[in-house]
Amino acid sequence: MAEDPLKYKGRDRWNPRTGLGRLRRANGKEEARLGSWESRVDDEAFLDSQAGVGKRTHAGETLLARFNRLAMAMGASGPAEGEAAEICGFEGRTPIVRRSTGEELPCEVRRVLQKQVTGVKNPLCIGDRVRLVHAPGPVITAIEPRRNQLARADSHNRALIHVFAANLDRLVIVSALHDPDLKRGLIDRYLVLAAQCDIPAVLVITKCDLGDPTEAVRLYESCGVPVFPVDARINGPGIDALREHLRGLACVVAGQSGVGKSTLVNVIHPGFSARIGRIAQAGHGRHTTTAARSELLPDGGRLVDTPGIRECAVTGLTGMDVALLMPDLAKLQPRCRFPDCSHRHEPDCAVLAAVQGGTLAASRYESYRSMVEEDLAVTG
Ligand code: GDP
Ligand code: ZN
Repeated sequence: MAEDPLKYKGRDRWNPRTGLGRLRRANGKEEARLGSWESRVDDEAFLDSQAGVGKRTHAGETLLARFNRLAMAMGASGPAEGEAAEICGFEGRTPIVRRSTGEELPCEVRRVLQKQVTGVKNPLCIGDRVRLVHAPGPVITAIEPRRNQLARADSHNRALIHVFAANLDRLVIVSALHDPDLKRGLIDRYLVLAAQCDIPAVLVITKCDLGDPTEAVRLYESCGVPVFPVDARINGPGIDALREHLRGLACVVAGQSGVGKSTLVNVIHPGFSARIGRIAQAGHGRHTTTAARSELLPDGGRLVDTPGIRECAVTGLTGMDVALLMPDLAKLQPRCRFPDCSHRHEPDCAVLAAVQGGTLAASRYESYRSMVEEDLAVTG
């Protein structure tokens, strides 16, 4: 069963050093990563927009850190006026905010704010905490720093980063044990995405009434992921543990169609009318037009749905980033003969040796290869 859930709590403070940045620093390679995802952002325009905030940024600074610097600088220019609210949706380009009363209001965005955050595709996103004044219509006057953001390179324009949602507590990956079969490649991709975005992930294996999940539970727990094997239709101990683990948290639920996501949400929050089709389905592609939404759950948590999570290919990473974001591979890396080992054809590769020796799961290595070779098209 799951690891001590407390281990994953208390990460509520904003941490500018995202997971990937931290890993790269740990690996002593961050300065060399000019081809990496942060630096592929439409940087110049974004940096220009920060005139007066400090144009110069060191090469390793992430998009998130930059956003937060901007948000803080704007907050510092005056006392935080207005009421606190949260963006829960969009009508076209107009943000909808949810007030503490639960009331939802379409808002204008203060002109100067709009101007300052130009240069990124979507300066505000679901989950952003904002300040609201009534002048007399509702206007967003400031944004709070984000503690993390779900973002990825645009699949058509890799130079552009899309931010789908901010301030998330969990990426809840749902996969069925059977019908449809456990999708290890998809699970591993979501785990890499979560690590890349510094969002803790949990894995829910549904339909455990159809087989024995022990091997899968052991595998993902050994990767440091809390795993919940459940029958999503029955409000049993597995569901109780999951409900407890997710209590009050802002969650994105991801997984392919038919694995039981709607069933799960309804059993965790009976009476909460999660609209079928609302919860992100992997593999539906970019033509699904469901709007992003954040629903307030009865326990104070949030259920965030964003079409961005449906694309499952990893983007904007180097092959080595992928290996660093997979903890079971990353811990072997220092034992490879070459520090920049791609774990594919090099001699004295600790990863290849571990696969052959059965100490690294073949499915994890297959996922790594397919992310690197198929999603990222790394050759050589
Ligand atoms: P979604 O597309 O991911 O939202 O999946 P649904 O919640 O619509 O579930 C798809 C089908 O799987 C429905 O017929 C559910 O009753 C069934 N289902 C969901 N969870 C389980 C489970 O744990 N065990 C079994 N046997 N069936 C399940
Ligand atoms: Zn290696």
